[in-house]
Amino acid sequence: MQTKKISVGGVIVGGGESVKIQSMCTTKTSSVDATVKQILELEKAGCEIIRVSVLDEEDAKAIKNIKSRINIPLVADIHFSYKLAISAIENGCDKVRINPGNIGSESAVKAVADCISAHKISVRVGSNTGSIEKEYLQKYGKNEISLVESALKSVAMLEKYGVDDIAVSVKSSDVSLTVKAYELLSAKTQYPLHIGVTEAGTEQMAVVKSSVALGSLLLKGIGDTLRVSITDEPVKEIYAAKRILRAVGLDKKFINVISCPTCGRCRWNSMEMAKKVTEYTEKFSKSLNIAVMGCVVNGPGEAKDCDLGIAGAEDYCVIFKNGEVMRRVSSKDAETEFFKEIDLILND
Ligand code: SF4
Repeated sequence: MQTKKISVGGVIVGGGESVKIQSMCTTKTSSVDATVKQILELEKAGCEIIRVSVLDEEDAKAIKNIKSRINIPLVADIHFSYKLAISAIENGCDKVRINPGNIGSESAVKAVADCISAHKISVRVGSNTGSIEKEYLQKYGKNEISLVESALKSVAMLEKYGVDDIAVSVKSSDVSLTVKAYELLSAKTQYPLHIGVTEAGTEQMAVVKSSVALGSLLLKGIGDTLRVSITDEPVKEIYAAKRILRAVGLDKKFINVISCPTCGRCRWNSMEMAKKVTEYTEKFSKSLNIAVMGCVVNGPGEAKDCDLGIAGAEDYCVIFKNGEVMRRVSSKDAETEFFKEIDLILND
């Protein structure tokens, strides 16, 4: 289902636009230099929307200064205080992430909603397994229904006061529950969905959990913006997000390195070559397939759809293009010669 388009400081989320990559700063927001430094690093890596936490008035005030020194939209994450939410908006954030259920009384929700409308910004609401509304928890237990009903209740609270540039999330640290919840949510709302697995853990497992959950959703056309949550440097979240989007075919402009796992037929160091080629080509934004194959017997045939490839034998390698062998090179010259061909094809 096509979702509604919303603007986050000019970056469009939803409505079939590209899936936007987000991350969140780990710095104290009021430490402006450190926060700006982290955001600029994330921007360089490909982050398209950044979120910061607002815990006090210093954090809210810092937003103005931070915004003047960065180039991507900034989302302020506020809980419990409607005054801080209003202050963050007045200091220029492009979107707020709030939970109307914990922001205060009905009049507090209205005050924040009015401020969102007056500044024409967007908002994210949502639930995660730790913040499901009591009434739904009691009625349904901890499952996709209570997650979705909680999120939709927040949506309704904002709609009541005229806010409708809303992104919604329903996160869990459980992969299967995350997928089920977003599938249900997607059937029930047209608002764009912010997808992610929450508290996914440290790098390796977090990337696996996020790839499985977000990959399944994205392949079904669910998800308009994503965050890969990793307990590590946030820049790793961006690398992981980009790889997920590439793996599901939503980002085609990259060098896809095809390499076989090798087997007993491999008589050269194709693993090292594959790593070097991946590292070298990662920064290029071009749609190409480059193969590094373990043996000349099966390699060129198995990788015949690639734009360029190399396969090795005991003391020589063959370089091939579109499945046809171009030339044979000695093992000692293989790296230099293959990288020459890579540069040619990259600059083509
Ligand atoms: S290409 Fe050759 S070395 Fe690689 S897995 Fe296939 S048979 Fe083994």
